[in-house]
Amino acid sequence: MSETQNNTDESKQVVLIIDDSKDVHRLLKARLRQEDLDFASAETGEEGISMAAERCPSLILLDLDMPGLDGYEVLRRLKDAKATRDVPVIILSGLQGAHDKVTAFDLGAVDYVTKPFDLAELRARVRSSLKLNQLVRMLAQRAQIDGLTGLWNRAAFDRRWSEEYSRAARHGHPLSLVLLDIDHFKSINDTFGHPAGDAVLIGLAKLLTRELRSNDVACRYGGEEFAVIMPDTGTNAARQTCERLRVALESVVWPRHPERKVTMSIGCVGCDQVPSVPAERWLELVDQNLYAGKRSGRNRVTAASLEEALGMKIAV
Ligand code: GH3
Ligand code: MG
Ligand code: MG
Repeated sequence: MSETQNNTDESKQVVLIIDDSKDVHRLLKARLRQEDLDFASAETGEEGISMAAERCPSLILLDLDMPGLDGYEVLRRLKDAKATRDVPVIILSGLQGAHDKVTAFDLGAVDYVTKPFDLAELRARVRSSLKLNQLVRMLAQRAQIDGLTGLWNRAAFDRRWSEEYSRAARHGHPLSLVLLDIDHFKSINDTFGHPAGDAVLIGLAKLLTRELRSNDVACRYGGEEFAVIMPDTGTNAARQTCERLRVALESVVWPRHPERKVTMSIGCVGCDQVPSVPAERWLELVDQNLYAGKRSGRNRVTAASLEEALGMKIAV
C-alpha cells in the first residue's frame, strides 16, 4: 500500500512554502518549528508547482502576490494536475479584500490567512488543515480496502488492473493476471459455520500476503474469489508462483477443522510482451482458465500465455 503513503521519507509531514520573500520562509519555519514538520521552500510559482509534484507535501502555504506566476495561477495549476489536486493549500496574503478571499476559495484553497500572521492563529490553521488532510487520505484508502481480509477490494482491483495493463502495454513489460477461487467453499460454511468460512478467507489473504512479492497486487475480488496482478512477471514465473500458492493452501491445517483441507482452483494468463487484447478480455480469459480448472477436478492451476489462451478459446 506504499502508493497511498504520503511523504517518502519517514513519518514527518512535509509543508511546502511558496513565497517570493526569503523573510517569509525564515519566519514561517521559525514559527512552526515546534510542529515536527519538514519544510520545502520555493521562491517562484514555477518552482513551487514542480516541487509540489515531486515532494507530495501534506500542505502548501502559498503567497498570492509574486512576480511571474501569481498565487492564483499557481493554485489553478495545482488543482488542475492529478498529482497535486488533493493537497490542501492555505493562502498567505497581504490582500484583505473579500473578493480576493472568495476567488482563492473558489479556486480550491482550504484557508486564507492574512499577513502579518498571528502566530497562534497560523499554527492552529496549519494543524487543522493537516489533520483534515490525514483524515481524507485515510478515508480514501479505507474505501479501497476489503474489511474482512485487509486486502485491496474490487474497486481497487479494477483501478490497478487498468493501470498495470496500460503500463505493460506502453513499455512492453511482462504482466500476469491470476484469479483464485476456493473449492467447495459453501460446504465449509455449511459444515463448520460462517465464522469458520471467514477464518479461511482471512487465512488465505495472509498466505497471499506472505507468499507474494511486494509489488504483486493481491485483491479480494468478491466472496471467496481473489485476484492477483503480477507486474513484470511472465507466464512461466506466474505459473510457478500459482503452483506454490496452491500447495501452500492445501498444506494448511485449520484450527477449526483440522480434518478438513481447503483447496483452491487458479486461473492464470500471462503476457511476456505487448498484450494483444484489451484488459477486460484478458480478465475473461483468466476466468475461463479458472473454470476450466474447476470443471477438470479443482485444486489445480490452469495457466497459459495470452496467445495460448486465445488459441484455446478458438479451438473450443
Ligand atoms: P466451487 O468449488 O465451484 O467454487 O464451489 P463454492 O462452494 O466454492 O462456490 P459457490 O459460489 O457455490 O459458493 C461460494 C460461497 O461463498 C457462497 C457464499 O455464501 C460464501 N461467501 C461469500 N462471501 C463470504 C464471506 O465473506 N464469508 C463467508 N463465510 N462466506 C462467504
Ligand atoms: Mg466462486
Ligand atoms: Mg468457490
